[in-house]
Amino acid sequence: MISDQAARRVVKLRQQIAEYDYWYYVKDAPLVPDAEYDKLFRELQSLESLHPELQSQESPTQRVGGRPLEMFKPVRHVVPMLSIRTETDISDQGAVAFDARVRRELGLNGDAPIEYACELKFDGLAINLRYERGVLFQAATRGDGEVGEDVTQNVRHAIRQIPLSLEGSPPDILEVRGEIYMRRDDFEKYNAVQRELGLPTLVNPRNGAAGSIRQLDPALAARRPLKFFAYGLGEVQGWKPQTHQELLDQLETWGFPVNDMRCVVKNALGLVEFHRRIESMRDRLPFDIDGVVYKVNSIALQESLGYVSREPRWACAHKFPAEEQVTIVRGIDIQVGRTGKLTPVAKLEPVFVGGTTVSNATLHNEDETRRKDVRIGDRVIVRRAGDVIPEVVGVVQEAGERREEDRFDLYKWLDGKCPVCGSHIVREEGEADWRCTGGLFCAAQRKQALLHFASRRAMNIDGLGDKLVEQLVDAHLVDTPADLYDQRKLNHETLSGLERMGEKSAHNLLAAIDKSRKPTLARFIFALGIRNVGEATAKDLARHFGKLDNLMHADMEKLQQVRDVGPVVAQSIVAFFSEKHNIEVIEALLDPHRGGVVALESEAKTVRPLSGKTFVLTGTLGISRNIAKERLESLGAKVAGSVSKKTDYLVSGMDSGSKLERARELNIAVLNEHEFLSLIESSDA
Ligand code: NAD
Repeated sequence: MISDQAARRVVKLRQQIAEYDYWYYVKDAPLVPDAEYDKLFRELQSLESLHPELQSQESPTQRVGGRPLEMFKPVRHVVPMLSIRTETDISDQGAVAFDARVRRELGLNGDAPIEYACELKFDGLAINLRYERGVLFQAATRGDGEVGEDVTQNVRHAIRQIPLSLEGSPPDILEVRGEIYMRRDDFEKYNAVQRELGLPTLVNPRNGAAGSIRQLDPALAARRPLKFFAYGLGEVQGWKPQTHQELLDQLETWGFPVNDMRCVVKNALGLVEFHRRIESMRDRLPFDIDGVVYKVNSIALQESLGYVSREPRWACAHKFPAEEQVTIVRGIDIQVGRTGKLTPVAKLEPVFVGGTTVSNATLHNEDETRRKDVRIGDRVIVRRAGDVIPEVVGVVQEAGERREEDRFDLYKWLDGKCPVCGSHIVREEGEADWRCTGGLFCAAQRKQALLHFASRRAMNIDGLGDKLVEQLVDAHLVDTPADLYDQRKLNHETLSGLERMGEKSAHNLLAAIDKSRKPTLARFIFALGIRNVGEATAKDLARHFGKLDNLMHADMEKLQQVRDVGPVVAQSIVAFFSEKHNIEVIEALLDPHRGGVVALESEAKTVRPLSGKTFVLTGTLGISRNIAKERLESLGAKVAGSVSKKTDYLVSGMDSGSKLERARELNIAVLNEHEFLSLIESSDA
């Protein structure tokens, strides 16, 4: 029988929805995107209305979904915190349907003017703020609508926008309701740091907000950047506004943040216009919204409309296209960024999300892909909000058998080679990303490498900026820095063929390139764009090694003898010079018949300024002993533990004791800290 079938389906839907509710409201970790949830919820609602005999107080359609966590003190809401009816028809029809319902309930015809207050539907966590005699007394979550969680401490600590005491003369008892949310840029920043540290990221700003407030440690909550907008009232004694508009304006004067993208409109047409206007600017808003909210403006009319189960009849949420959807991963590609960073990207079964069709979504990096355990064939949640690039948020349903050894491994995936140029890839210690080492050669990095090479502090090629580099590379005139100097490739004729490149500019550019042919060794090293080798390190390397050749053949140990060069920098240098492609470019640059660049040799300080001198350190110095020792050693000095005839200098800090006496006895030069630092500076010049 049909109704048997319906009954079974209703039971199944209720179970499924209860599970989703638990993970969404209690754990702040949704299992499926809202669009998927809403579909099931609507199906249940329609089955229940088609078969009234199947209705039940226990159905999720009759309740607000949350359940308070036991670890928080329960708070009984004097005025229940309800949900809002969601209009999932995202076309204009959604607004028209709401207006028609209100008119029907009020017995008004189509022409009678009705005012609606329109607001944004913030995507965060609902909160009830109770003020007694103008002072914040308690903050509580919605919970199951009747009983919420006491999160006063967290709210006090974490959200500066929520006033602790109110301005003006508010009523003695005032409960203000609103949404705690996280801005998109704050969310991105927070996740970027977590990714760098290899820690779990937040799924979306909404869960970020909910998860932050509903955790026990106020200090942790305070570390998450949270914000607040007020949009309504709970219990109030001693004040009653006439309209919703008046209510919001008054809250603002008492010191609450109220979003200013609100307005009062008339009739269905006004609603439709508001919905369209906000949708067109949705991507540019600094925070997520999942729709707009319409509320009948007159409080008296609101009262006569009343409530139905868990929703007021006088309000409605009119949604926008969902920013999260489920789709299938068809493949995983690795993209090479302008700086050589390798990013895994999921190739997706195309899906309409956040207003566009998406077929690629970032997986960010290897660790995150492994943690989320995304594999080909999986059904995943994809999020696209604002102009942020789409990302895979998590797996909804796994495809097939899962062997641990098949978990994503970027090195294996690429067989250790850059997918664009075939150079080796490396992942430095403490770094979240793998990188291609073919900096000078890799097509993906070409433009960036050339720009850096030509920049003022590197080879200083005047006039070779962003646009020109773009043109030269796109026209295949220049692939590597060596091509800049190759007159068969760059000459008056080829250059004048470029757009917006006149005779004179071509001449100037060639002259600037020619002028850059004799850089100092330090500039040349810096221009190569070796990862982790900035201008200062390039100078140190030039000074230490004197010749490019010496640097190119230095091993880890030799490199680390250079001031400020630790294992990470040394590793980057070794990786760069062990890449055959980079060597080819350098050879071409230095080849008199091709590049013709001459990197001037530095007067190699093989004899370092303090070579042969022995220092002893004593007393308390302003800089740490280790640093003082390293600086001395990098200048060639030896640092000994005790004073003897062989000691050349004693560096004496505060509270020096027996070593100072001994040095005086032996007539050894004693330097105070100031003299010591001047000696180092002058030796280092
Ligand atoms: P809701 O979140 O859609 O609407 C009510 C809430 O809207 C209020 O509690 C309030 O916090 C918020 N709101 C934002 N701006 C507002 C404004 N200007 N005025 C008034 N209220 C405003 O309803 P709900 O009952 O909390 O939950 C239903 C929603 O939660 C649905 O969208 C559903 O998709 C989602 N959900 C998803 C899952 C899942 O697993 N993905 C599970 C449960 C619920």
